[in-house]
Amino acid sequence: MGDRFRPAWAQIDVGAVRHNAALLGSIAGTSTLCAVVKADGYGHGAVPVARAALSGGALWLAVALVEEAVVRREAGIEVPILLLSEPPPNAMNETVHRRLVPTVYTPAGVEALARAVDSVGEVGRGPVEVHLKVDTGMHRVGADASDLVELANRVSAVPQLRLGAVWTHLAVADGSTEPDREFTELQLARFDRAVAEVEADGVRVPWTHVANSAATVAVPASRRQLVRCGISLYGVAPSVAIAELLAHGTPDNGLLPVLSFRAQVSFLRELERGERPSYGRRRPLPERSVVATVPVGYADGLPRRLFDAGGHVLIGGVRRPLAGVVTMDQILVDCGPRGGEGAPVSVGDEVVLIGRQGNEEITASEWADRLGTIAYEVLCGIGPRVPRVVVGDVGHAGQ
Ligand SMILES: *Cc1c(COP(=O)(O)O)cnc(C)c1O
Repeated sequence: MGDRFRPAWAQIDVGAVRHNAALLGSIAGTSTLCAVVKADGYGHGAVPVARAALSGGALWLAVALVEEAVVRREAGIEVPILLLSEPPPNAMNETVHRRLVPTVYTPAGVEALARAVDSVGEVGRGPVEVHLKVDTGMHRVGADASDLVELANRVSAVPQLRLGAVWTHLAVADGSTEPDREFTELQLARFDRAVAEVEADGVRVPWTHVANSAATVAVPASRRQLVRCGISLYGVAPSVAIAELLAHGTPDNGLLPVLSFRAQVSFLRELERGERPSYGRRRPLPERSVVATVPVGYADGLPRRLFDAGGHVLIGGVRRPLAGVVTMDQILVDCGPRGGEGAPVSVGDEVVLIGRQGNEEITASEWADRLGTIAYEVLCGIGPRVPRVVVGDVGHAGQ
């Protein structure tokens, strides 16, 4: 990376990732922890987060795209990497060449993979491991339960392929209502029946896996040989219900947040009562006020509607409301009357958009609540223009 001039960055505490991985590992018991690091590690950065999770005890990684796995291989990470969707046919050679673990759920997928194994040839570790995905009610991707036996047979008919696992994904594991719990049980029952049919047909299923973060914490029956944890690694509970369970049921002090989004005040003005800062002149200042400009905007992942949604930032350990709508590269913050509440604000002062400052904290979940979304979307939305600054230490695992 070249020189950085703009005072805006996301601080990534890899020690917290390591802590969270270790905590999840203890909850998962004998299940292997697979760290889900798709989408640049949920916006935290591709490689440091993967290394930190491995150093905290994860043994597998999972990503959405072949491209995302290649980044980890090129960084020298050699652990098994599960692809959570069936790679497109034109990605199968790379999948085999990089020794990734593809998920497959169509006959065409098995065929494309078999052809890739033929054309890429020996990659040094015996047959290519395949995980079959069955749809049990999420209805996003996966084979019909009624097609699973045939698919498993197709895999076992190719000598260079080895069926490593059958898996599924839960739709409402983070829910706390009775209908949610019933649906999760239904998915588990459908899954177990589908796996039993494969084995009854004479194909051994060495592993199964089902659980995401929410299920790992809340649904013990979903913890199979492997658990796939994403959001919790980053120190964010998948839902309020899961946050409560974690607060009560864990031997440790719970999850540690990993990301904080920080900047510095770049410009200050004192404006008269009634002035209306920013585009649209949306809100009059209730009194003569200091208005601070902070050089981050919606191009950096700060949604424009955070103004309407009542968003705050922290400066000097005090919550301060936005003074007008978020613009592409900048926000305006109402710091109140000079000499008013809290410490006076100066150019260069640290601004916290997400994270802790003094006794105050703004979480990704708070943004999500205000914006009517989930913390996952907030974190993945922090744009590539924001440099990720890694702090903490996790040694040299995952080489
Ligand atoms: C993203 C993803 C996960 C991780 O889910 P979290 O809720 O972030 O723990 C697990 N499994 C699949 C199939 C996914 O797509």
